[in-house]
Amino acid sequence: MTTTVAVLGTGIMGAGMARNLVNADFDVRVWNRNRDRAEPLADAGALIADSPAEAVAGADVVLTMLFDEAAVSEVMAEALPAMPKGSVWVQSGTLGLEATERLAAQAAAAGIKFVDAPVMGTKQPAEEGKLIILAAGPGRVRAALEPVFEAIAARTVWVGERPGDGHRLKLVANAWVVSLVAAAAQSIDLAARLGLDPQLFLDTIAGGASDSQYAQTKGRAMLGGNLAASFPLEGAAKDTQLILEAMEQSGTRPDLMQAVAGLYADALAAGHGGDDLAAVVTAFRRGHEAG
Ligand code: NAP
Repeated sequence: MTTTVAVLGTGIMGAGMARNLVNADFDVRVWNRNRDRAEPLADAGALIADSPAEAVAGADVVLTMLFDEAAVSEVMAEALPAMPKGSVWVQSGTLGLEATERLAAQAAAAGIKFVDAPVMGTKQPAEEGKLIILAAGPGRVRAALEPVFEAIAARTVWVGERPGDGHRLKLVANAWVVSLVAAAAQSIDLAARLGLDPQLFLDTIAGGASDSQYAQTKGRAMLGGNLAASFPLEGAAKDTQLILEAMEQSGTRPDLMQAVAGLYADALAAGHGGDDLAAVVTAFRRGHEAG
């Protein structure tokens, strides 16, 4: 019997994930608040639903890929009562630890199995089915989810059974990602201020022990001015706050992340929320102008 998967949220990430599920021959229903963003998936073979409840009716698996807790909580308040008993909710947006606990409780109250499953990877890996899923949830649902996860990810890391463990690892990894991009922006700005061609920085680390594919990709975007969003800066700024909350809870020294968060907040305030997170470089440039 064909497994039916409902994808709620077809933004940058959800659209690629839904398309790969269609390509893997799942029966896919999609819903997006702004319907225009879901429409292209109809050509691929997905059914476009008019409401979250319509999308999830009859679904075996419901995947949420929405911006933040407020969006997920509102959408799932409508969807949960319409989900079949025995179906599984896979929550893949990056929402934070406390949010994940609240949503797991919302699922439990509705009698629905919940899997905390944030992902690593941006637009291209989502489109290529090469995400890394960081999953935590009941062991008994793993086998049933395996084909679904295989359609969207290169691999799945089962972190544990406790909801929130997927998110714990996601915040650990994203602390690295947002810091790395801010550090690349810093070196690019420093090179320019010292009168060097900043490309020399990227060329110098290329292929060496301190190189990183991500630093090269984002560095090129900073220098070329191509800031089309793969990972929107608004999402990165949101994540810095979720990381700081996790640091406060765990007693982790926050100085570095506070500085990084300040840079993303500056770029967000300057209107770069819809640009790629590489636009964090503008926070350094503004500092240059002010100085
Ligand atoms: P996106 O393109 O901005 O999509 C956001 C989605 O959330 C859209 O479907 C949007 O609907 C929906 N949404 C926002 N507010 C809503 C509300 N109040 N009610 C209903 N729907 C709402 O962002 P994305 O990059 O796909 O990110 C989605 C999630 O994945 C975020 O939690 C992000 O942190 C996480 N993530 C992103 C990346 C990445 O590299 N992009 C990587 C890993 C994880 P509309 O289209 O109607 O606005």
